[in-house]
Amino acid sequence: MGDRRLLAIDDEKGLLAVVQEIAQTAGYDVVTTSDPDFFLQQTREWQPTLVLMDLQMPDVDGVELLRAMAAEQLRAPIILMSGVEDKVLRTVGDLGTDLGLNMRGVLAKPIRMETLRRTLEEDAAPAGNNRADELRDAIAGGQLVLHYQPVIRLASRELIGFEALVRWNHPTEGLIQPDFFIPLAEERGMIDDLTWTVVRLAVEQAARWALTIAVPIAINLSATNLNDEAFPDKLAQLCRECGVQPNQIHLELTETATSRDTMRLKAILSRIRLKGFKLAIDDFGIGYSSMMQLRSLPFSTLKIDKSFVNDMLHSEDAGIIVDAILALAGAFRMDVVAEGIETEAQLAALVTRGAISGQGYLIARPAPADDISRRFSPLKEGTA
Ligand code: C2E
Ligand code: CA
Ligand code: CA
Repeated sequence: MGDRRLLAIDDEKGLLAVVQEIAQTAGYDVVTTSDPDFFLQQTREWQPTLVLMDLQMPDVDGVELLRAMAAEQLRAPIILMSGVEDKVLRTVGDLGTDLGLNMRGVLAKPIRMETLRRTLEEDAAPAGNNRADELRDAIAGGQLVLHYQPVIRLASRELIGFEALVRWNHPTEGLIQPDFFIPLAEERGMIDDLTWTVVRLAVEQAARWALTIAVPIAINLSATNLNDEAFPDKLAQLCRECGVQPNQIHLELTETATSRDTMRLKAILSRIRLKGFKLAIDDFGIGYSSMMQLRSLPFSTLKIDKSFVNDMLHSEDAGIIVDAILALAGAFRMDVVAEGIETEAQLAALVTRGAISGQGYLIARPAPADDISRRFSPLKEGTA
């Protein structure tokens, strides 16, 4: 499979032929179609690195397609093509971004060949490839490091867990934050290797901390990690090898990662739980989980997205949402962790509303294991 894979959908066959020719010249493998079902199947199975899509087609509109791609957690950049007026095009573009898609831009129809050629060549520019190659080497060569952020019981400030957050310790650029390379890893098929590197580091750390700190470590997963049916077994095996109890490892999945309420998802999540690992829904409140999912998927913990904590004191809406999430979690007997606590006032308000645990810069920023374990132990006051 080539490195550059372009998937294009349009009902104009003539335009598709032109796209195909220009893209192949720019070094892409190309699949074109007018069939929305085939298109969506290809986004899953062929994993394009760039998607070109028409907004107006006879059988389906662009918004439906964007929703379907968001549900699939497609990471590839998307370029919209359309003849509709500017404002509509922009609104649809914003919608795509809100859905969590990687909206790259817009080509207004009629599309000039020269514009198309330039767009494709820019996207295929070697800069992106170098970065991807660099990241591949970084994953294999031990440049990924974990920082740990404490999770505390809010009322007593006792330490009850850590979240492991990955950083790329780049040889010349210093520490790079995950938002700058996780999407690249997802786009370029490196996320399984990245996740396993993170999982190994975190489980080894749990083993080192087992006799002193002995609180669970939470690890973030990407949606695609769940395509590997052997994941629960491999994780259990690793824990056995390192002498770590499964209940010392929690796994976090974003709401959108679990928006496909399929049998397969149910099966893999249940197997993770049956092996003794806990599961949290991350960034809760900004994605798409339905009540049904909360009920039917085996999550043990709900993490309130930091945007609500941040807005809670000056926005009535955000406060209402926090209360609703706490009530929901109570009804489903789930633990709740409030994220992004930055001020004493936020912490106090959360305690008043009945939140039990949380994390945030107020307590501590994520830091290397040695720093953080010097400052925190389960019985000591968790002041940063
Ligand atoms: P997340 O899972 O929601 O992690 C929490 C993020 O909020 C972290 O950003 C953390 O540093 C930040 N944060 C913590 N307290 C505060 C606060 O008080 N205020 C504010 N404004 N932010 C706070 P970070 O480390 O940059 O990670 C960003 C995202 O990258 C994570 O969001 C997670 O989705 C992803 N990520 C991190 N590590 C991994 C990993 O190992 N694998 C995967 N798949 N994703 C990861
Ligand atoms: Ca998380
Ligand atoms: Ca989060």
